[in-house]
Amino acid sequence: MKVSFDFDDTLDQDGVWQYALQLIDRGVDVWVVTARLTDEEVEEEYGTVINGKMNIPFYAGNDDIYEMLEALGIPKDHIVFTSLGPKGNFFNENSDFEWHLDDAPKQLWDIRNKSSVTPISVLNPHWKEKCEDILRRADKQHYLKEWYIKDLEPYNYDYKDYGVFENPNNLAIGWLDDPNFPKGKTPPGFLKKLKKIKSVNRHKGSHTCPFCGDAEGSAIHGIKQGKITYVYPSLLRHYIKEHNYLPPQEFIDVVMSGDFIEARPNPLRRGPRKIVIKRNR
Ligand SMILES: [Zn+2]
Repeated sequence: MKVSFDFDDTLDQDGVWQYALQLIDRGVDVWVVTARLTDEEVEEEYGTVINGKMNIPFYAGNDDIYEMLEALGIPKDHIVFTSLGPKGNFFNENSDFEWHLDDAPKQLWDIRNKSSVTPISVLNPHWKEKCEDILRRADKQHYLKEWYIKDLEPYNYDYKDYGVFENPNNLAIGWLDDPNFPKGKTPPGFLKKLKKIKSVNRHKGSHTCPFCGDAEGSAIHGIKQGKITYVYPSLLRHYIKEHNYLPPQEFIDVVMSGDFIEARPNPLRRGPRKIVIKRNR
């Protein structure tokens, strides 16, 4: 995930650079997009050479940016200078940023008009909540896209919302972003039995088949036998039908036996379900 900060009166402010540091620690790709001139342009515009040294009157160049980036651990190629120009052009061509934080209303307006990147004003007292909100949503989709758990490994989920799932014996079935999944033939009637099992919930984001891109599923299913709950995505039938995936025998046996409890959402919970996915590795 990529985000971007303006420098002057944004990233150079306490609170903002601390937040940038947190993001970096969390693995977010942090960039700086500033309307300043590049070093070369500064030299060309304002530089005079005095005693063999570059002297730049009233304009200190960009050393303060470089210092800050070094302190934060942001690589130098993560700075973009728009040279007094509007930032919307840059974000129009680089739309893979989740948001850009800035204090200049004109720049924010320009970004909103020209690009799909969300501009956030640092002058808004809730700027950090807005940033986090977008990251949370993006993160969820990111995880769903790259979601992969080996069969029969624990399915780590935030179980609070899913009454039936509140036990440590939830095992993953068919969370297949890895192409090296087991292949083979399932017994006759298996897919038909699988079709009857209702889903537990619908995710807000959806999961596209990573192998053909032609199928989408947004729900998860769970079946419980004894202490074990097997948790699988709604794409499972697609994986079996179209990609010849063979689930583990113990799962096949449970489905074929018909002797299981379908996991249901916690009926006590109201409102939108918050999903927090913790990756296993
Ligand atoms: Zn597919």
